[in-house]
Amino acid sequence: MTAAREHAGDQLIARRARQIEPFLAVEVFERAQELERRGIDVIQLVFGEPDFETPAVIQEAALRAFKDGRTKYTASLGILPLREAIAEHYQTTYGVRVSPEQVLVTPGTSPALLLLITGLLDPGDQVILSDPHYACYPNFVRYAEGEPVSVNVYEEDGFQYRPEAIRGRLTQRVKAIMINSPANPTGTCLSHERMAAVAELGPWIISDEIYHGLSYAGRDHTILEYTDRAFVLNGFSKAFAMTGWRLGYLIAPKPFVRPLQKAFQNFFISTCDFVQWAGVAALQEAGGEVLRFRRIFDERRRATIAGLREAGLGVGYEPTGAFYVLANARRYTQKSLDFAFEILENAHVGVTPGIDFGLNAEGYLRVSYANSLDRILEGVRRIGKFLGSLGR
Ligand code: PMP
Repeated sequence: MTAAREHAGDQLIARRARQIEPFLAVEVFERAQELERRGIDVIQLVFGEPDFETPAVIQEAALRAFKDGRTKYTASLGILPLREAIAEHYQTTYGVRVSPEQVLVTPGTSPALLLLITGLLDPGDQVILSDPHYACYPNFVRYAEGEPVSVNVYEEDGFQYRPEAIRGRLTQRVKAIMINSPANPTGTCLSHERMAAVAELGPWIISDEIYHGLSYAGRDHTILEYTDRAFVLNGFSKAFAMTGWRLGYLIAPKPFVRPLQKAFQNFFISTCDFVQWAGVAALQEAGGEVLRFRRIFDERRRATIAGLREAGLGVGYEPTGAFYVLANARRYTQKSLDFAFEILENAHVGVTPGIDFGLNAEGYLRVSYANSLDRILEGVRRIGKFLGSLGR
């Protein structure tokens, strides 16, 4: 599209849509693909997508359901066996009571987030986000005509929320506090004590638990262990290696379910039938595979941290979850987007610029270890060689 036409589109489109920021990781990825088309071997450490195949038991369950004709609309909240399996999963994993009636199944965690944020916020309502945060959160909040309020988290503090810093930002307009543990882009897990303290601050808590199952130093905690005044977002993309299946869910306090269900019926009608049956198999039969993935990720995590330090980047904390390290490149740059492109062009390694995740992550690079150990080792070696050549 020409710049003029793009500009004309900008004028016509609603203000709420104009405010959506592009995802810079995608820009790096697309440039990397261009290089690859020219025959250059590029190591992609950009995306948060497991490189594993979806476990066979899940694939088989989907095929069975498909052959059994499970190809129609389902109940809008989702099929009961999946909602029961999700409630059961929260009971057995965390010891919390969730009723299947509180569960709304969605085509991925992102639609659950869209539904919740647009369903919860009135114009001008504020949502507390950590900075750095998952790139899409402020876009969802702005799209709902709400206002994201950043609370900085720092490397020297393991990128964990300080509950007192959140308290300092609370006003009448703060409707919710967003937490994401393990976190994207830092791999940080919020400690039991801090999560308990955040739960007590007063506003609703929105807890994005999509990286649960991928914690390497202790067990995951759901927000529901601490408070009922919370919404849980979760999905199958990460721990079960099911990004392309599009399956997620929302657990909401009962009074919110019916209004959110009505919105869901209008926007989505239902989630894919046979994919929901695959979800049942994931929760009931793929636990062993999740443990296997976790062991492999943990090995890569250690190699990534060690390799990045060796390469000359700073990792002054221990990322213990998800599959990301937020590496400090401030010795070399204050412009992470330019620097990510420099690394790509010179070292042929794709990493995500920190600025994608908030102003407080400027000068950092997010490195995803959702790639094979060999590729990771080669990637950090190349980065080290490039940084060495800068002589800074
Ligand atoms: N939340 C976080 C923190 C994520 O990193 C992602 C995926 N990158 C999502 C939500 C969305 O996941 P999906 O829609 O694939 O379930």
